[in-house]
Amino acid sequence: MNKDTLIRLSGVSKRFQMGSGVVQALREVDLVIKRGDFLAVMGPSGSGKSTLMNIIGLLDRPDEGSYLLEDQDVGGLDDDRRSYIRNRTIGFIFQNFNLLSRATAYRNVMLPLAYRPMPETERHRLALQALDAVGLSPRAEHTPPQLSGGERQRVAIARALVGGPSVILADEPTGNLDSRAGDEIIELLTEISGRGKTVILVTHDHGLTRYAVR
Ligand code: ADP
Ligand code: MG
Repeated sequence: MNKDTLIRLSGVSKRFQMGSGVVQALREVDLVIKRGDFLAVMGPSGSGKSTLMNIIGLLDRPDEGSYLLEDQDVGGLDDDRRSYIRNRTIGFIFQNFNLLSRATAYRNVMLPLAYRPMPETERHRLALQALDAVGLSPRAEHTPPQLSGGERQRVAIARALVGGPSVILADEPTGNLDSRAGDEIIELLTEISGRGKTVILVTHDHGLTRYAVR
């Protein structure tokens, strides 16, 4: 495999059983994503974008087809192994932020490091560094209800970054934000991609053509 290839999906299909019917969410998807790519996934509601993200993020498995992540065929691995790889390789950002509402920004950002073998002081250092990278260190002790929508999403981005993942998956991260806060989030993701991180973004924002986006 090409050494710059991070993700290779071949012939990936996914169906869901709904009552007596079947929904074909993905049909024979072939996709190659290279390290450093900034990929925008666009399409109407129900076209399978989240299903694709869940498969790439190892939250779900395809019915058919193969998935190579960092040269490893992850399709045949058991759930424990997939969780291990997910925790180290993938950073998720969701439309609804998915933060723990009673934990401070700082605690939220530290969560992905919980099972990493490292000293507690190192977890704290990395969490502060990630909050700093999204400009939120002054809000470290705030809980999500004490933050604006845009700030919450920046906490979620810090949480996605803290473990040093290879790829950031953002599924409609601006869907619950006003246009200004949404633009700031897209700018931040652009910056992150500019630093060499692979970013896959599901979005409705056609203004993205302004950025270096595939
Ligand atoms: P998008 O994110 O593009 O809006 P989704 O990937 O969420 O689309 O869904 C694609 C199709 O698969 C839709 O028709 C949806 O109803 C169906 N689907 C998604 N997840 C499930 C599920 N867990 N059970 C049944 N159907 C599902
Ligand atoms: Mg979706």
